[in-house]
Amino acid sequence: MSLDRDAFYIDGGWRAPATDATLQVVSPHSEEVIATVPEAAPADVDAAVAAARQAFDHGPWPRMTPQERIAVIEAFSGLYAAKLTEMAELISLEMGSPTSFSQLAQSPAPWMQIESFLAIAREFPWEAARPGALGSDVVVRHEPVGVVAAIPPWNVPQFTVMSKVVPALLAGCTVVVKPAPESPLDCYLMAELLHEAGVPAGAVNIVAGGREVGQHLVAHPGVDKVAFTGSTAAGRAIGAVCGEQLKRVSLELGGKSAAIVLEDADLAATVEGLKFLSVMNSGQACVAQTRVLAPRSRYEEVVEALAAGIGGMQVGDPMDPATEIGPMVAQRQQERVAKYIALGQEEGARLVTGGVGMPDGLDRGWYVRPTVFADVDNRMRIAQEEIFGPVVSVIAYDGVEDAVRIANDSDYGLAGTVWTTDVDAGLEVARGVRTGTYGINTYTMDFAAPFGGFKASGLGREFGPEGLGQYTEVKSIYTPPPAG
Ligand code: NAD
Repeated sequence: MSLDRDAFYIDGGWRAPATDATLQVVSPHSEEVIATVPEAAPADVDAAVAAARQAFDHGPWPRMTPQERIAVIEAFSGLYAAKLTEMAELISLEMGSPTSFSQLAQSPAPWMQIESFLAIAREFPWEAARPGALGSDVVVRHEPVGVVAAIPPWNVPQFTVMSKVVPALLAGCTVVVKPAPESPLDCYLMAELLHEAGVPAGAVNIVAGGREVGQHLVAHPGVDKVAFTGSTAAGRAIGAVCGEQLKRVSLELGGKSAAIVLEDADLAATVEGLKFLSVMNSGQACVAQTRVLAPRSRYEEVVEALAAGIGGMQVGDPMDPATEIGPMVAQRQQERVAKYIALGQEEGARLVTGGVGMPDGLDRGWYVRPTVFADVDNRMRIAQEEIFGPVVSVIAYDGVEDAVRIANDSDYGLAGTVWTTDVDAGLEVARGVRTGTYGINTYTMDFAAPFGGFKASGLGREFGPEGLGQYTEVKSIYTPPPAG
């Protein structure tokens, strides 16, 4: 079956593109073109924003009750649940995520987000009276923020689009989605399911394209809020435009998270956990635990166990269920990771497994070798910059305070973990690290709770009631004081 597409989803239907420009979706495994889709021109973005604007200013969606919108999203959730396998396979094909990861995180997790936002929306205080200071009630309303531009990256495309589209819709907003050029296909399937669920014309519009298309969308005067996930560099540029225009903006950006292994950690369980968390999605994960902080007394033990664990992972075809690490999304990303591995060696870190070059047995595809560096100083660039590949740095620390200091010595503040048999000691460490989320002997994103970054990892929060609130403006209505 051909995966090609020739139209955009705009104003509730499939609309021909304004130009014949196309995007080629290339398999990171075979390096062959697997699909061609239209690339948006400014005129396509304008049409998508106009449809969303019309649907917001005059359409039914923002004027429906929250319960009516919830019913439509419930229908969407049911349809999505029936497509989990197809969606995960599509994402593995387009961006190379190993099936073992996709079938866990690329579609079941987005579906769990829908269910979680539905539960939150059912209880959300859309309009509530509270006793005012002047003796009368104040009615506090959450109203939709308006037309939302949702810009996801390619690494977890449905995960990052669902965290925007679903709360935006539940709040009564209308949306223009711009998928990343590497991964437009999953959004086509999502559009079909939203359409079938009965989302009205113009409430969701989808136009794929690269950075220029994103820039045009972000700066568009018809957009009220930008919800972005991607690199910190792009986030800064988007934040500057939104600041100038006083547009609402939420930014989920990069990370360089530290896993702190305490003296009392169960090493086998820790390495089992970190084998997944440090290099999940082939290391292309914003929350990847890429700095492992080990106590000096157990340093060599941690390095050896981690090198054996990560060095022994199966690298190869993402569609093989046994594959643990797939290719990088694009050749530029393969080259970027290789440059960082070479840089680590130049900086004086000790290569304990991996290195520059193709993994054994592979002669095509954008693969890199899972790599572990020891003797890393936290000031080295490999410890400070986001590599976005399966490259882990092991850093020695002296005492828990030193570990927390090193974890915090980063421009980023997205996530972190601590590994210990003493949960209270773990909580104390968690309180000291300046990141938006933290895990003790685990890191499983919980959609009931807010997720986001401190420092250069972002602005705002996704998930939980806080994540829904990001799509609302809050209005206070003062009622007359009691007579007499
Ligand atoms: P990217 O910033 O290059 O691109 C992300 C998206 O933004 C793409 O759709 C791209 O076309 C678009 N874009 C790029 N520049 C733009 C601009 N100036 N204006 C408007 N749109 C623009 O990032 P990427 O390489 O696709 O993704 C990897 C990055 O995403 C990593 O840094 C990773 O940490 C981050 N990420 C963060 C989270 C999180 O929740 N914090 C989750 C996943 C990925």
